[in-house]
Amino acid sequence: MNEKYKPEYVASKIPLDQHEYQGWFWHMATKKFYRWNDLPHRKEGIMNELISDDLENLINKVKETTCPKCESAEVGFFFPNEIFNCNECQHEWTGTSPSNKGAG
Ligand SMILES: [Zn+2]
Repeated sequence: MNEKYKPEYVASKIPLDQHEYQGWFWHMATKKFYRWNDLPHRKEGIMNELISDDLENLINKVKETTCPKCESAEVGFFFPNEIFNCNECQHEWTGTSPSNKGAG
């Protein structure tokens, strides 16, 4: 059984539209979600995990993803294991779920 927990989302002082990428990104070292421009060591931390083409795809995916439960766009993404977490309702799901028929 999974224990319920609420990951911490670190509010940004920068307006969302001024971030290079939108969405919330997981920082493993501190175990918190950050906005892109606030993400500590984002280049080293994330580029180590992913080549840049994948990063681009991933970030687009994060940007387009909304919570399947409450449709919030306040969605955090765990980088290493492709799990999404909703900041609004704490719903958690995997990014590779095949249940997104009828998109577009
Ligand atoms: Zn939600």
